[in-house]
Amino acid sequence: MKPVGIVRQIDSLGRVLIPKSLRNTLDLKDGDSLELFIEDNNIILRKYQPACIICGSAKNIVTFKGHNFCPDCVREISAKLL
Ligand SMILES: [Zn+2]
Repeated sequence: MKPVGIVRQIDSLGRVLIPKSLRNTLDLKDGDSLELFIEDNNIILRKYQPACIICGSAKNIVTFKGHNFCPDCVREISAKLL
């Protein structure tokens, strides 16, 4: 991890402000969603990108019945069913 020299307090509602300069650097816009991860006792925030539940690809995702699939996995599943 690379430190950015910024320390922020968590407010009484558990919120942390991400400075605008850092949001701009990471191309985070108002309304974007962040996904939270825990790794080695650290919290990692990552811009949320829907990904295929089978292979993890984020390209051309299609949502079906609340689950995300990539075209390659859809083709592979379809081929096995036909
Ligand atoms: Zn896939």
